[in-house]
Amino acid sequence: MRIHYLSCGTDCPFGGPLFDGFSTGLFGVIPCAAQLVETNEGLVLVDTGYGIQDVRDLHPRLSRFFRTLLNIRFRMEETALHQVEALGYSARDVRHIVLTHLNFDHAGGIEDFPHARVHVMEAEREAAEKKRRGFIAARRYRPGQWDDVRDWRTYASSGEPWFGFDSVRSLDGLPPEILMAPLPGHTSGHAGVAIRTSAGWVLNAGDSYFYRRALDPDRRRCTPGLRLYQTMMDTDRKLRFQNQVRLRDLKRRKGTDISIFCSHDQKELEAMQAEAATAGKPHLRRVEAASGSGEAAL
Ligand SMILES: [Zn+2]
Repeated sequence: MRIHYLSCGTDCPFGGPLFDGFSTGLFGVIPCAAQLVETNEGLVLVDTGYGIQDVRDLHPRLSRFFRTLLNIRFRMEETALHQVEALGYSARDVRHIVLTHLNFDHAGGIEDFPHARVHVMEAEREAAEKKRRGFIAARRYRPGQWDDVRDWRTYASSGEPWFGFDSVRSLDGLPPEILMAPLPGHTSGHAGVAIRTSAGWVLNAGDSYFYRRALDPDRRRCTPGLRLYQTMMDTDRKLRFQNQVRLRDLKRRKGTDISIFCSHDQKELEAMQAEAATAGKPHLRRVEAASGSGEAAL
């Protein structure tokens, strides 16, 4: 399976390196990572970032609070649909969308692919539909981004083991090489999405961590801006920390067999893009090398 690594929108928060750890200016570069996977069942998108409608009609699809806080840079060419078409495909070719969760910066492009079946954990769909009370909850879930979806598939964790994690391996219509592994904490139904390639497993850990060195087994770090942001966004802090410990342990045990990346780290995303371009592995060494630079600014 060929995987394309996309950034479907960029947040540019004031604070620069205090967020991304490498910028030299006043504004950071925080991507919204997504994957486009070529499979025998058609194209599969993992997360969708910001979509066409978000670019065209910001309000009320997205909250003024997050637009201002994140200083979101909306560009049509960064939308998943635009990038799918640039690769020579059409929206119709995207048959499945697998979501780490339903927050506004992951779900914005869903409706640009009306022929896709949308897969998400049951707990996440429930939270997005029914648990929108409170300042953050009301603004992180934006029903206007997905209320026209008719083909949902939701899953309870099946408990099937995957490197010590529970997983859901039977995603309806998808090959067994794509699975979901619940990683709650950031949101109630947050999950990682793992894909088996000829070079090993790749785990999209979504927003279970935000900064490349958060999984460093020896000296974990996070920039102050991202630490504050993820704390503000926690649904269950204890669970988030527990899952970070488990991911760190996974990386320590299986570092050369599994590449792990998160949704919002530019250096990690670039490393995955570079490795995908050469179809090589392991990804992690390059990520660690990339993370070594720019740290002095923190
Ligand atoms: Zn996010």
